Amino acid sequence: MIDDSCIFCSLANGKIPTNVVYEDGMVCAFEDANPMMPVHVLIVPKDHYSSLNDEIPEDVLGHALATVKKIAEIKGITESGYRVMVNTGDDACQTVHHLHIHVLGGAPMTEGSPRA
Ligand code: AMP
Ligand code: ZN
Repeated sequence: MIDDSCIFCSLANGKIPTNVVYEDGMVCAFEDANPMMPVHVLIVPKDHYSSLNDEIPEDVLGHALATVKKIAEIKGITESGYRVMVNTGDDACQTVHHLHIHVLGGAPMTEGSPRA
């Protein structure tokens, strides 16, 4: 289900143009508008789920997580390494309430940072 008032629903479903890195029937991955690392891609289900706390079918969750590896390959960071984050709720500073997986890399990170 798509929420017309949700920016990530619009981006993931092509209603607002963005820099798409990868797309299939279930997910869209696009460049973060305010990158915290040389590589900063967001993997977003095409259907609306507000966070990991939502009722998310396991095939969607599994597919979104499996897409991480594809993004790493596309971005050439498989060997150098990368960080994967899913901010959930207020204490984690989730600002966009549509589930998204941050894929961060392209340079060495210190332990515990960045806090995307
Ligand atoms: P979070 O704090 O985990 O909710 O992260 C939201 C992320 O979405 C941030 O890294 C923002 O830079 C990013 N973001 C917000 N609006 C857009 C947009 N229109 N296009 C791409 N990325 C966005
Ligand atoms: Zn949405």
